[in-house]
Amino acid sequence: MSNTETKPEEVICEPGLRAGDVLLEARNVPLGGVKGVSVNRTLPHKNLPTIGAFCFVDQFGPTQQPGQILPHPHTGLQTVTWLFDGMIHHRDSAGSDIMVRPGQLNLMTAGTGIAHSEYDQEDSQFGFQLWTALPDSDRGTTPHFEQHSDLPKFSTGSLEAQVFIGSLHGFSSPAKTYTPMVAADLNIQPGSAVIELDPNFEHGLVFARGAARIEGQEVPSGPLMFLAKGRERVLIEVDEPTRGILIGGEPFTEPIVMWWNFIGRTHDEIVEFRELWENQDQRFGHVVGHGDEHIPAPPMPSVSLKARRRRTF
Ligand code: MN
Repeated sequence: MSNTETKPEEVICEPGLRAGDVLLEARNVPLGGVKGVSVNRTLPHKNLPTIGAFCFVDQFGPTQQPGQILPHPHTGLQTVTWLFDGMIHHRDSAGSDIMVRPGQLNLMTAGTGIAHSEYDQEDSQFGFQLWTALPDSDRGTTPHFEQHSDLPKFSTGSLEAQVFIGSLHGFSSPAKTYTPMVAADLNIQPGSAVIELDPNFEHGLVFARGAARIEGQEVPSGPLMFLAKGRERVLIEVDEPTRGILIGGEPFTEPIVMWWNFIGRTHDEIVEFRELWENQDQRFGHVVGHGDEHIPAPPMPSVSLKARRRRTF
């Protein structure tokens, strides 16, 4: 008898974290306004300006005091508001005057310029606001607002996911985006789940309640677990009910200059946006119900603004 096997079993995909995967700490950041709130910010990070086109990840709550953010401008980005709990009154200069509730996606495309206000309506607010950078080809788009209440859900293992941007496990959000990307709500019961990923995307996972092990790495609520491009699946294990989000996309390669609520391409462009807002230029329109109330722009920094570079880890 002899072993006739000539080809040992191939290892298709080794479990565990790989080069480039890294846990990024969160910062506590106070927001402006008369009744301002503070948020848990994980993106932009000093070493990582974007994950896909996502350039901003703020988590608020779960025990957040209600805040009132007066009208303020945006350019060159989309705001993605996703609530786990609470309710927000959103008004913008595209004519929107609506309530944001859990399970509904609010997606505001600033394009050339928009203004909006956000007033919390309940005692406790819990959720995320994300920004995505618009590519140069689309950042001159007309400002507009979308709300989506019929978003797909799927279950795998102990995970129930709801897809609010892009596609995951074959389920797609109807939301309009401008570069390939994904975002989903992750609601995980004790146990484990494997999420199939697009290997052309890089990804980030943030847990707002509970904690998880991602490919064996302990990830508490708060920080962001970055997973480099090339991964086809991720194993998530939890010991307690855990809630968070998955974001991802094709790496965004255009250098962007982010300052205050603006995204541009150069320092001078940001200066122009700021002056237009300070002059209450019609580019940003008017948010109904606020009279002349608005948040003034802070002074420009003394140094020239530059695009933040990605550093390899
Ligand atoms: Mn805003």
